[in-house]
Amino acid sequence: MDSVIEDVRVRKVFDSRGNPTVEVDVITWNGFGRATAPTGVKTSLREVQSFPQGGVDQVISEVEYLIASELIGMSAEDIEDIDLVLKEIDGTDNLSSIGGNTAIAVSMAVAKAAAVSYNIPLYSFLGGNFVNKIPYPLVNIMNGGVNLNNVPDIKEFLVVPIGANDIKEAVFANVAIHNKLKELIAKNDLDFTYGKADKGGWIPNISNEKALELQVKACEEISDELGFLIKSGVDIAASDLWDKNKQKYVYSDTERDAGEQFEYIKDLIETYNLFYVEDPFDKRDYAGFSELTAKFGNKCQICGDDLFVSNLELLVDGINKELANSILIKPNQIGFLSDTYATVKLAKENKIMPIISHRSGETSDNTIAQLAVAFGTPMIKTGTVGGERTAKLNELIRIEEELNNPKMADLF
Ligand code: PGA
Ligand code: ZN
Repeated sequence: MDSVIEDVRVRKVFDSRGNPTVEVDVITWNGFGRATAPTGVKTSLREVQSFPQGGVDQVISEVEYLIASELIGMSAEDIEDIDLVLKEIDGTDNLSSIGGNTAIAVSMAVAKAAAVSYNIPLYSFLGGNFVNKIPYPLVNIMNGGVNLNNVPDIKEFLVVPIGANDIKEAVFANVAIHNKLKELIAKNDLDFTYGKADKGGWIPNISNEKALELQVKACEEISDELGFLIKSGVDIAASDLWDKNKQKYVYSDTERDAGEQFEYIKDLIETYNLFYVEDPFDKRDYAGFSELTAKFGNKCQICGDDLFVSNLELLVDGINKELANSILIKPNQIGFLSDTYATVKLAKENKIMPIISHRSGETSDNTIAQLAVAFGTPMIKTGTVGGERTAKLNELIRIEEELNNPKMADLF
C-alpha cells in the first residue's frame, strides 16, 4: 500500500554539457523519488540507445503517457516487475522506443520512491541492512583526447587515494591533487588557460609523458603531505586512437601497431606505477587485453569501458577470455537497475572489479553514489570538482556519516 505508484512524470531538463536529458518523478502513496539520466559522448552498437529517434521531446509527447498508465497502481518496491513492464512497453532489443535514459531514470526514481515510502535509505533498500563499505573515489583530474589540438592523446588522467581511511580523507586528497596539478601545469605550460574538460579535469598543452610526470608529482607531494598512498590511473580510450585502415594507433607524434601499443602501455604501467588503466587497446584487440591482464592483473586494474559498454554478454565473453579484471558500469548504457545489478553481480562472482561510473554529461543527480554503496562496488568513477561531480562525492560523505562505522572497500 505504502509504495503504490500514483503518478509518473517525465520532464526535459539539461545536463552539464547543455544537452537535453530526462528527469523522472515517481509519486507513491507516501513517497517520492526523482532521478535524472546522464549522457555520454557517443553510443556504440552494443549498448542501448539513449533516446528514441525524436529525442527527449518524443519521450515527453509519446512515452511518458505509456509508462505512467502502466506503472500507476504497481508497487514501487517491485523493481524487477517494473523493469519488465518497461521492457514490454519498449518492445525492442536496444530500448530504441523509450530510450535507455528514460528507462534508467524511471527505474532509479521508482527505487528511490520505494525507499522513501519505507523510510529507509536507497542503499539499504537495494543492498540490505548489512551494507557497510564505502567505495574509493577514482577521479578525473586532467584530460586530453583525440579531438583536441595540442593536448595529451590520453583521454583521462585519474587518481585514487587507496591509502585513505575514510571518504572525507579520500575526497579532500583528490581535491588537493587537482589544485596541486593546476600549479604544476601552470609552471610547465605557458599556454595553459586553466580550461577544464567536460568531466572537470584540467586541459594542458603538454605531451602524454609530461602530463603523467606532473600527475605523479602531484600525487607524491600530496601523499607526503597527507601521509597516505595515492595512486595514478589513465583512460587511454584506445578505440578512438585506432585507425582501422592503417591498422595503427595514431598519436599526435607517432603511430603504433598493436605490438608497439602493448609495449607502450606496459612501459606506462611500469614507469608511472599505474593502478588503473582503462581501454588500453581498441575494443576488438582481445589479444592485447588478455595479455596485459595476465601480466599486470595482480597489481593494476585493467578496465573495460568501450570494451564492454556495460553489456552483460560482452562481460561473459570477457570473463571466458580473461580480457580484463575490471568493468566500468554506466547504468544508462544498460537501462535498468535490475540489469545493472545483474552485471555487477556477475562481475563480482568472477573476481572482476565493477566500477560504477559517471558520464561526461551529468546533472546534480547523486544516485550512483547510492548504487555504489548498495551494490558494493569497490570504486566509483567520477570527477573532482564541478557541482555535477561533487554531488556524488558529497553524497558519499553523507552516507558514511549515516552508516555505523563503515570501512573503505576492499580493493583486492
Ligand atoms: P562518456 O565518458 O562515455 O560518459 O562520454 C567517456 C569515457 O569514460 O571514456
Ligand atoms: Zn572510458
